[in-house]
Amino acid sequence: MSPLFPALRTADRKEALRFGERSLTYAELAGVAGALAGRLAGTGRVAVWATPSLETAVGVVAALLAGVPAVPLNPKTGERELAHILADSAPTAVLAAPDAPLPPALEALTRIDVRTTAEPGAAPPAAEPGPDSPAFVVYTSGTTGPPKGAVLPRRAVAVTLDALAEVWAWTPDDVLVHGLPLFHVHGLILGVLGPLRHGGSVRHLGRFSVEGVARELSTGATMLFGVPTMYHRIAEALDTDRELAKALSGARLLVSGSAALPVHDHRRIAAATGRAVIERYGMTETLMNTSVRVDGEPRPGTVGVPLPGVELRLADESDGIGEIQVRGPNLFSGYLNRPDATAAAFTEDGWFRTGDMASLDADGYVRIVGRKATDLIKSGGYKIGAGEIENALLDHPGVREAAVTGEPDADLGERIVAWVVAADPQSPPTAEELAGHVAAQLSPHKRPRTVRFLRALPRNDMGKIMKRALGNG
Ligand code: ATP
Ligand code: MG
Repeated sequence: MSPLFPALRTADRKEALRFGERSLTYAELAGVAGALAGRLAGTGRVAVWATPSLETAVGVVAALLAGVPAVPLNPKTGERELAHILADSAPTAVLAAPDAPLPPALEALTRIDVRTTAEPGAAPPAAEPGPDSPAFVVYTSGTTGPPKGAVLPRRAVAVTLDALAEVWAWTPDDVLVHGLPLFHVHGLILGVLGPLRHGGSVRHLGRFSVEGVARELSTGATMLFGVPTMYHRIAEALDTDRELAKALSGARLLVSGSAALPVHDHRRIAAATGRAVIERYGMTETLMNTSVRVDGEPRPGTVGVPLPGVELRLADESDGIGEIQVRGPNLFSGYLNRPDATAAAFTEDGWFRTGDMASLDADGYVRIVGRKATDLIKSGGYKIGAGEIENALLDHPGVREAAVTGEPDADLGERIVAWVVAADPQSPPTAEELAGHVAAQLSPHKRPRTVRFLRALPRNDMGKIMKRALGNG
């Protein structure tokens, strides 16, 4: 297979990575990652203590150069989940920043400190493994159940990044602002490996802040990757922040993913900056499946069209809604140690069942309705997606956050329940008012029958709403 990072082979003085005050050029990265790759040769799987740091990026690049599968670990993982992931993935060593304290669960592993000072003469190994060879074991976000380890071959990483380059016109001139964690596909594979594969640069904020985004976009950065909670904070700040509006107006590309971007936030950002946030849809198991193209029509509430090389179909369609199934070279090779779960995830004819429900616009744009397990409500003989009701609720001025679930109901089969964080907790809108608002925007059978007010919605590290933590939902 051709090298994953051609720019490391033609190492130059261009900045590759910047984390806060620290940065590495391509030449320096080739040196430090090359030296570390040499030390990793012969290791089985290697865990990466994935703090948002230069060391994590260097460690992952080194593992890829060495052909050693990397298992990124979320440093905030609780003891029990960490023990599960370690037992499941069985790494023999852990890569960490020299100053990072590691929890007792990792003490049995050989600790390999990642140094970011160049060793003279070190260079990436000449040969890289073939396309089927595993690049990563990445654990899913655990939104619907315990995380599963997805084995990702090198091919999947390469084809997904190349497809994104095509539809986003991603070039070596692009500089990415990054504020996401580094233990999932979004922050690690797209956010760090993407710029490196395309010979561009990445500036990581350490921790996301609206000010950091504004600063980087007004000093040369061209693109931003974020999750919907980040775009929500941006949308809120835009009400008063002229500098932020100016910075975003100048960006070439604003991309959202990992969860649905509320239409309301999309519209607010577009109105204030003239820029449409581009949505893309992917999963740990499939990497990226669809995106709005940079030269295509942005359409709020959709995730665009299948990426080059990805086949997509809706299965078991009724009322225009079906499960998204995909096929293509972007797919994982299976769940680690879970042949049954792997087999169950594929149809007999080899399509991957995403578990996400969607409809298609006439021209093929994909509209995600929600997850089959939690977001599809069967009420009064109708099949109703939680997503459009959430969007309608968020459009109400009295609503800050909203999640919709179904609960068993003797009459309706399932009853629509809205979980709402009020914009002003002192004077929340009434349940009748919200039901009337949804009925007027959508249709009467989509109105919530029950409204429950919360101080905040339960979310995981990616900002995804954990519906399994909401009552019966
Ligand atoms: P688990 O599989 O452990 O329950 P998870 O599915 O959240 O967790 P990920 O693989 O990180 O773990 O997330 C993939 C899911 O995120 C998709 O199946 C989809 O439901 C959701 N998703 C990703 N991007 C989008 C998007 N643009 N719009 C709507 N949903 C999205
Ligand atoms: Mg999933």
